[in-house]
Amino acid sequence: MNLVIMGLPGAGKGTQAERIIDAYGIPHISTGDMFRDAMKNETAMGLEAKSYIDKGALVPDEVTNGIVKERLAQPDTKSGFLLDGFPRTIDQTNALEEILKSLDKKIDAVINIHVEADILVDRLAGRFICRDCGATYHKVNNKPKVEGTCDRCGGHDFYQREDDKPETVKNRLSVNITGSQPILEFYEDQKLLQTIDGNREIDAVFADVKSIIDSI
Ligand SMILES: [Zn+2]
Repeated sequence: MNLVIMGLPGAGKGTQAERIIDAYGIPHISTGDMFRDAMKNETAMGLEAKSYIDKGALVPDEVTNGIVKERLAQPDTKSGFLLDGFPRTIDQTNALEEILKSLDKKIDAVINIHVEADILVDRLAGRFICRDCGATYHKVNNKPKVEGTCDRCGGHDFYQREDDKPETVKNRLSVNITGSQPILEFYEDQKLLQTIDGNREIDAVFADVKSIIDSI
């Protein structure tokens, strides 16, 4: 089965991706790994990507798409794959269609792990740090044993990193939402989009993921 997994930061996409590859034994094709492998193996596209990265420049879409194409052409994708982190734009979505067509493959399902933005803000913006010893906590899932007191050093002075502040997190999410919307619509039109409520226990989410994959 050929799958794409999507989800906003904090929605639990990574956890579900791990479960899928463990349960179905298909390769996990994430953009980061793909780039690392292509450069390590010095493929044509990998070398080209490296020439941009070494200059500190952005890797152009044609090169990224080329790396995806090289990766999807490898024999381990014969019984399926899980694409994660690609496509990220509507241009990449169209490019993926072309790539798959040229390899005589198609996407069977796009699994979208959906969690409301407000809930993600609580999850992602909950981290705070002890100013005295650097111990990190989370206001929902990793609170100090005594409220307002650091478990490790007994300090009372906490702060949030700029990246963990609600406003920063909200901005990051809204950029992601705007970017993914046209991709979700594209796959919705193709009747491939399967949206799953990600605001539940990991096992319950995975049960739904599994029933979608098993129905392919
Ligand atoms: Zn401390």
